Formats: sequence, C-alpha cells, structure tokens
Amino acid sequence: MPIPFPDDEPSRLTGFSNSPLDRLGDRRADAELIAAMSVLPDAGYVLIERDRPVLAGVGDGRTAVHGRGIAAALSARLDQAVFLGLDDGQPLFAAPLPPAEALPDGFEACDLRGLAVDGVLDGRALSVLAAAKSLVDWHARHGFCANCGAATRLGMGGWKRDCPACAAQHFPRTDPVVIMLAVDGDRCLLGRQARFAPGMYSCLAGFVEPGETIEDAVRREIREEAGVPVGRVRYLASQPWPFPSSLMIGCLAEALGETITMDAEELEDCRWVSRDEARQMLDRTHPGGLTSPFPFAIAHRILRAWVDAD
Ligand SMILES: [Zn+2]
Repeated sequence: MPIPFPDDEPSRLTGFSNSPLDRLGDRRADAELIAAMSVLPDAGYVLIERDRPVLAGVGDGRTAVHGRGIAAALSARLDQAVFLGLDDGQPLFAAPLPPAEALPDGFEACDLRGLAVDGVLDGRALSVLAAAKSLVDWHARHGFCANCGAATRLGMGGWKRDCPACAAQHFPRTDPVVIMLAVDGDRCLLGRQARFAPGMYSCLAGFVEPGETIEDAVRREIREEAGVPVGRVRYLASQPWPFPSSLMIGCLAEALGETITMDAEELEDCRWVSRDEARQMLDRTHPGGLTSPFPFAIAHRILRAWVDAD
C-alpha cells in the first residue's frame, strides 16, 4: 500500500515556518566568503537587543532587516555576527545589540511573540527572526567550553563554536518538545497553566527526555500532567519555537481512559472539552469566554485539525 504523503505540509500553517533562507550549509565554513558577504552593499542585519528583534519604520513599512551602516550606528556587535543565509540572493546576518534602556527614534525592540500575534511582519520575515533570535541567544550562553571551561570562538559563520584549548566543537542545539491533543471520541483534553491569559486553554506539552521516542514522550507527558493513559500517537506538524530554541512536535494521541488526575504543579486546570466547545474556543465565540491559542501557534493548528476532521 502506498504511504499517504500529505500534499500540503501542515507545518507550513504555523508561525515561524516557511523560511526563505538558503543557509549555504556546504559553504559557510569558508570564512573569507562569509566576511566578503558581510560587507556587500545589500547585506542585511537582524539585530537582537536582549531577546527582542529591533524594528525600524512604521505601519506596513516596518522592517527587521537593517543595513550594515545602521547596525554599526546602533552599536551592534558586528564581530559576533552570524550568517543566517541568503534570502532571494540577499545575504542576511544576525548580530546582538548591547542591552539598551532606549533605542534612537525610529527604532523599537519588539517581543517576537507579540509580532507573531499582531501580524505586523509576514511569515517569512518571522521565520528569519526566529532563527536569528535562537542563534544569537545560543552564542550569548555558550561563550565558554562545556568540556574544559576555556573561552570559545565563533566558527562556521556562526553555526558552531570552537574551543581552542581542547579542540571541542559545539553546535547550536534545538530542544524537542512534544505538544499534543489527547482525544477520546468526541472530546479532547485541554489544560491551562497559571501564566496563561484568563480563560485560555491549550494542548499539553513537555520536553522530550533522553532515550525517548516522540510517541513515548507524548504518552509520558499526558500521564504525568493529567493522569490519563494513552495508546496510539500520530505526528501532525512541527513548529520552530524560538523561546529560546525549541522545536514543537505536534501530535494527536488516543486516550484510553477518562479520569483526570491533574499535576497541580504544572497545571491550574485540566478538562475534557467537546468538539463543539473546542470549535467555539478557536473561533472565540465560546459562551463561557474560554479561548485557545492564536492561529500562529501549533496548539491552534492541532486543535483545528481535530475539530475540522469531524
Ligand atoms: Zn574546551
């Protein structure tokens, strides 16, 4: 029987996906090439202040990609710039800005989650910012070798760090997180954390641990957080999640029981929700004011996929 490959990748519907970048993975070890591209007149720089990308302009003209001259004028650490890739031929780099109380007029450091919710930038631009934010954050936290403690040096255009003392190579990491909807016929299991906006419920989620498959992690997390046993698991879609550097792996899971025993450390509430109620939460028409995450979030897409499969 042929394997049913999807024609449309569900992951493309999530925020921070659809990257336009050609990362030149086979050429970015060439330091001379990277240096030459970094000073081209059309080289673009994404600037990250603490964990926030810096935008210039107003309204539809807002951009997060700046010329090298502007990057230098804003005191960007150009010696720490990382090569993101080519966007339709334009070389893009990311560089950290020193923490600033205030930026000059016309520039604003913006929360990336807020930008995704507001839809100020298109999806391709958001995916570039996600890569920039994760990579700049990784470099900021990995100045010293985890093997011997010596100061490390940026290499391969910013896609690794080298230790000159013990020759260890360190590569940017991505942490896999499972996010899943347990379903029992016409009901699904949603939880809320205390930090969520009032009334919002979402899929359960947790980090994959060493030695686990994705499916094992889904079953363990649902059992730990809700006490519900789970059988079969199906992968649905993934989403880069740059807070700071996760990959969300979205799944549907088959519940084998209905009694909830909630982990009150992780969750404030956990409940079964009918398909009709879930649809109202997605559409923001729930009579009790319950809501689900915004469309850019993979939790929204998982819930939507299940609701629409009716
Ligand atoms: Zn070392």
